[in-house]
Amino acid sequence: MNKLTVENLDVFGKTVMVRVDFNVPLNENQQVTDDTRIVASLPTIRFLLENGARLILVSHLGRPKGNPKPELSLEPVAVRLSELLGKPVVFKPFSKEINTVSPIDELKNGDCLLMENIRFYPEEEQNDEQFSKSLASLADKFVNDAFGTAHRAHASNVGVARHFSDAACGFLIKKELEYLGSLILQPKNPFCAILGGAKVKDKIKVIANLLDKTDHILVGGGMAYSFLKVLGHKIGNSILDADHLNLVDAILKKASDCNKQIHLPVDHIVADEFKNDATIQTVDTDIPNGFMGMDIGPKTINKFLEIINQSATVFWNGPMGVFEMSSFQEGTFSIAHGLAKANAVTVVGGGDSVAAVNKINIADQITHISTGGGASLELLEGKSLPGIDILSEVK
Ligand code: AMP
Repeated sequence: MNKLTVENLDVFGKTVMVRVDFNVPLNENQQVTDDTRIVASLPTIRFLLENGARLILVSHLGRPKGNPKPELSLEPVAVRLSELLGKPVVFKPFSKEINTVSPIDELKNGDCLLMENIRFYPEEEQNDEQFSKSLASLADKFVNDAFGTAHRAHASNVGVARHFSDAACGFLIKKELEYLGSLILQPKNPFCAILGGAKVKDKIKVIANLLDKTDHILVGGGMAYSFLKVLGHKIGNSILDADHLNLVDAILKKASDCNKQIHLPVDHIVADEFKNDATIQTVDTDIPNGFMGMDIGPKTINKFLEIINQSATVFWNGPMGVFEMSSFQEGTFSIAHGLAKANAVTVVGGGDSVAAVNKINIADQITHISTGGGASLELLEGKSLPGIDILSEVK
C-alpha cells in the first residue's frame, strides 16, 4: 500500500479531522450496546492525541436521511469514548452551518472533540462540494479511519479529502488494506474462500474475482440453494435468489473453464417451517418437497473443515445457515471453530460471520476481523474504494 498513513503527518499543534466509523448500536436508553467500532479506532485517536494534535472526530450513526434525529445523536458515543480514553471528549452539537468554529476554537493540543452525526446534513451523502469545503475549513490535516464507509463517496470521507494537501489513512484502514489487500495480491496458497449468507447478488462478484486466486471456494448458507438449483438438484422450499440464477450459471461455467471446483453442501439440515422448533431432518443433496434447507449437514461440515485444515489462507464471509436459531447454528459455529484452530492466516468479514465469531468467543484466534462488511466485499470484488482512492500517496 502506497497511501500516506497517520504516522507520516506532522500533527503537533495542528487541528486534525479524523473520519471514524462510530456507527454503533444504541439501546432505548441511548446507551452504546457494542463499542467494537469505537475501540477499533482508538489506536489512531490515541496516537494523534499523544502527538499533540487537536482532534475533531467526524462520524455518521444510522440513517437519519439528512435530518437531525435526537435518537441518532452521537452524544452517547462521546460519553463512551471519554470512558475508553480516560479523558474528557468535547461534544459539538448540531448547528445549521457545518463550519461554526465554537467550541473547536477552544481546543488545546491533546484535546478531543466529536461532532454531531454528520448524516444530519443532507449534503453529506450528496458529497456536496461547498459543504465539503466548509467542513475542511475546520482543520489543518485529514485522516480517514472509517473503513466501513470507504466504499461510499460522501462529503466527510471523499469530498473533504480533496481540500487537504495531506490526507492520510489511520491505523485501522492501514490494517484492513494490509490483510484484505494481500488476499488479492499475494495470498499464501492453498487459499480457501468460504461464502455464505442469504444473498447471492452480494457475493457472486467476490467469487468471480477470487476464482483464479483461490484453490477452493466453499459455498454454504442460503445462497448455496441457488447453485444447487442451477445444477439440477431438488431444493424444496429453500431460499432461492431467482433473479440471479444467470449469474450463478455463469460463475459455475467460469469455474469449470478454469478447472476450479466450487464446493457445495452435500447434506443439509432441513425444516418444514422457518422456525427453531420446526420438524427437522438431515438429508443428502436433494431436499424433499415441503422442507427447506436451514443449515449445512455433518458431512458438509467435515468436508469443509478438511479443506480449511489444508489451507494456508482462509477468507470467510456469510453464515452457513440460519445461525440465529439454535437448531441451525451448528454449521456456522463449526466453521468458525475450524478457522480458529486452522494453522493459516484467517480473515473474517461481514456482520453475521463476525457476530458468530464473537458469540462463541474466538475472535482472538482469528488473524484479522474486518470492520467493514460491504467495504471488504467490494475490495475483494476487485473494486477500488473511493474513500481510500482519494487519500494522498506517499511522496
Ligand atoms: P447475508 O446478509 O447475505 O450475509 O445473509 C445473512 C443471513 O443469511 C443470516 O441472517 C442468516 O440467517 C441467513 N441464512 C443463512 N443460511 C440460510 C438459509 N439456509 N436459509 C435462509 N436464510 C439463511
